[in-house]
Amino acid sequence: MNDIKNAVSRYIDSQRDKMTEDLRTLVKIPSVIGETKLGMPFGEEPAKVLSAALNICRNAGLFIRNFDNYVGTVDLDWGAEPALGILCHLDIVPAGSGWTYPPFDITEDAGRLYGRGTIDNKGPAIAALYALKAIQALNIRLSENVRLIFGTNEENGSCDLAYYRSKEELPPMLFTPDCSYPVINTEKGVLRLGIDGNVSVPSSGMIIHKIEGGNAVNAVPDFCGALVSGVSPEEIMNCAAKLGSDISAEVHPSYNLQRIIIKGRGAHASLPENGSNAVTAMLKLLSSLSGGYAEIKALSRLYPFGETDGYSLDISCADDISGGLTAVLSMIEFDGFRIEAKSDVRFPVCRTSEEIINTLYLLCGDNNLRLSVHYSSEPHHVPESSEFIRTLLSVYEDFTGKSGYCISTGGSSYVHNTENGVAFGAEFPGYENNAHGPDESISVENLLLNAKIFANTIIRICGKEQD
Ligand SMILES: [Zn+2]
Repeated sequence: MNDIKNAVSRYIDSQRDKMTEDLRTLVKIPSVIGETKLGMPFGEEPAKVLSAALNICRNAGLFIRNFDNYVGTVDLDWGAEPALGILCHLDIVPAGSGWTYPPFDITEDAGRLYGRGTIDNKGPAIAALYALKAIQALNIRLSENVRLIFGTNEENGSCDLAYYRSKEELPPMLFTPDCSYPVINTEKGVLRLGIDGNVSVPSSGMIIHKIEGGNAVNAVPDFCGALVSGVSPEEIMNCAAKLGSDISAEVHPSYNLQRIIIKGRGAHASLPENGSNAVTAMLKLLSSLSGGYAEIKALSRLYPFGETDGYSLDISCADDISGGLTAVLSMIEFDGFRIEAKSDVRFPVCRTSEEIINTLYLLCGDNNLRLSVHYSSEPHHVPESSEFIRTLLSVYEDFTGKSGYCISTGGSSYVHNTENGVAFGAEFPGYENNAHGPDESISVENLLLNAKIFANTIIRICGKEQD
């Protein structure tokens, strides 16, 4: 077995330049979602990058199929059902600003390859492809087939995978190198909720003309603004001082109106404790100022500033497998009469979406608010004791010398809605690759290491007893 491992490593190392050039081919195509065209469900560029990747595979003598430009597959062995699948995606998020290097090319600098998609997820796709090429080039005998699955819509709802699953079954063992090592086997359930209601405007005291905060349902909002009258700037600042040092508040008077601006700290909604919620801070401030506005006060009671575990919503819970529930009020709009808010809730495997929705539905109704469910997915969990996960962890340990373990996340990965899929790679703990940000990169060393890990995983799972 060691002979094979060494031969794979030598082969992958010898392909360093070819891997870089193939990665460049993919990175040069700005495969951001575009307008749907005939035969191109996610626009021209995602279709183009899929065809480029499948071309590389065809030229390598691998068996390819294109599922109507949703998904492409690459098989080592034609005609046999795969025992193992490796799921990567070739679509990307837009470049955004702040780049030092050209986003749609590969620049090598100090052992790192820079460009959009190098880590998320074109680099890992190339590593997986070269894992197959290594097995083919070295004539390593497998008793079972392995299939690469290239998707083109991971960044915008994973409709690619839904389409593929309507045509083909997923392999019984499946991993995606679209997160980090060692293995992510548990993902919390996700709810995206709307909360709205008409507000009874009080006849005296402070009048709230407008509230606006947050710009993404899956983020802790770092900004909230409000426009009020019938209250002095001094009163506002006195109450704002009680909110603590984790946020900052300003008041800008103009005529008889006061514009209040609260700045907090943004964070991903799966890790709300890292943020400081400007919207719930604003609701707390306005509630402490006003005599009326029962619905705004209710919303502030349900989502108290500083609370992230859903305690006041009566849905707080936790288990050993996935940790605790998180609840974030992430967006609000109020025009003086009507509130529209959005909330992100992530819940552990011990609960179902139905249980949580039922509790919140009643709670909102009691407070003259209306709940709507915009998105819901159940928690995802693959037991750590499975042979598949034990093999993944053992290959990881073998190549890194570090101990392997399973991770639970509040995030949702590419395999969230699959039966047995887990995330395995491609980021190594302790490395920052800036996925989705400027100057996204992967180190050459880690690109090669990923390919070696994937090849050895395939051999361990699909291989014949060789020695
Ligand atoms: Zn990704």
